[in-house]
Amino acid sequence: MLTHQVERIKYHSHRLVKEANGICRFCGQIKLIEIATGMKDDEITELTSEQCDCDDSKAYAARKTQNEMVYERIDKLFAGLDDKILRVFYVTIPSLNQGLITDITINLGNGIKGRMRLDRNGFIKITKIDAGEALEQE
Ligand SMILES: [Zn+2]
Repeated sequence: MLTHQVERIKYHSHRLVKEANGICRFCGQIKLIEIATGMKDDEITELTSEQCDCDDSKAYAARKTQNEMVYERIDKLFAGLDDKILRVFYVTIPSLNQGLITDITINLGNGIKGRMRLDRNGFIKITKIDAGEALEQE
């Protein structure tokens, strides 16, 4: 969660955090929130959308928190792979969280594939496929 990043920054130095108005992507409300200095407009919108009190925002924040554990599951499932390859999974997670994509399969070569998809509740599921066989699934 971007919110947690701002909290961590604030913990280390109050001077790096300031208040700003952000717009909730879901309901359009303008809210006064704490941001890290230097944040771009899209990051401020993301923060506001995590912190708004509308129902869509609350559901989004809950989903996003749950989906952040995906990073650890990727590291575990694909342990031993180059970090550059793992990063390909990481960069798609925000797009899955926002529902911009719902299913992606990455061919890692040697018959190994990684698939991430959204289930009907918006939670990210990840599967490792080896030679056409789904080996591990969470
Ligand atoms: Zn809202």
